[in-house]
Amino acid sequence: MQSEACKSLEKQGYQFFSKKSSAALKPCMWNKRALLGGDMCYKHQFYGISSHRCVQMTPTLKCNQRCLFCWRSMEYEVEEDEECPPEIILKRMHALQKKSLAGYNWILDSSTATEELWKEALSPDMIAISLSGEPTLYSRLPELIDLLNEKGHTTFLVSNGTRPDMIARCHPYQTYISLDAPDRKTYLKICRPENDFWDEIQKSLLLLKDRRSAIRTTVVAGYNDFGAEEYAKMYQDSFADFIEVKGYMFVGHSRQRLLQENMPEHEYVRDFALEISKYCDYDIIDENPVSRVVCMGRL
Ligand code: SF4
Repeated sequence: MQSEACKSLEKQGYQFFSKKSSAALKPCMWNKRALLGGDMCYKHQFYGISSHRCVQMTPTLKCNQRCLFCWRSMEYEVEEDEECPPEIILKRMHALQKKSLAGYNWILDSSTATEELWKEALSPDMIAISLSGEPTLYSRLPELIDLLNEKGHTTFLVSNGTRPDMIARCHPYQTYISLDAPDRKTYLKICRPENDFWDEIQKSLLLLKDRRSAIRTTVVAGYNDFGAEEYAKMYQDSFADFIEVKGYMFVGHSRQRLLQENMPEHEYVRDFALEISKYCDYDIIDENPVSRVVCMGRL
């Protein structure tokens, strides 16, 4: 992997599974917050996931889009010498997660995690394939998910939906597809894909009805916060179990592409979801103002 990109990411806390691949993990802030006995992420509220037992990882950091709202750096494009085999990812996962959380080890510093939380964190039960990059660009994704499932993990796959062929072959516990535009023109402007993948994303959405699934829409004020009827139609046709309408967060490298004013308040996100709900059978079933996200379910 390109060394500049690698060094920069390591400084940000990424742990790589192998030297030549970009497969990596990085605990999110909610994982650490939960370890300290604090709040958990909205996925705990919506889906019962324990944040301190969650591994946030990706089998590749490569991506075929350059979304304006993405927190990743696009300064260095990731180049991989080889893919990391699924069995290596599985074998090294616990050790890398432990290394990432070492500062929270209650034996070293009892003012941080309790022994109970620390022990639970060392035995993660949830794998979120959602760190950064597009996981469906990893050729052995179906195999990796099967292996994780076999080991008893709950698997969440988060994809930009550009590879419906790969989505069809993957069987995670829950599949997330991003839908960040009401129409093709807006998609090309906000997601800046390598090629026009709008039709592929539509195909991926139609795969959701036969599985436990969610669509995530990141609302960027002034960019994709219109077209409620169009969003509603795509949600309706997908039969996804859940729709997450989430406000863009002004964090990471996205700050070089967008402005603070593009980050909508929770009420704005909620109102937009309510507007969408007028045109489909989905309605708000839960919400988390801290993460500026509402969860819609089909009524
Ligand atoms: S698809 Fe995901 S990883 Fe790729 S640029 Fe968009 S937000 Fe970032």
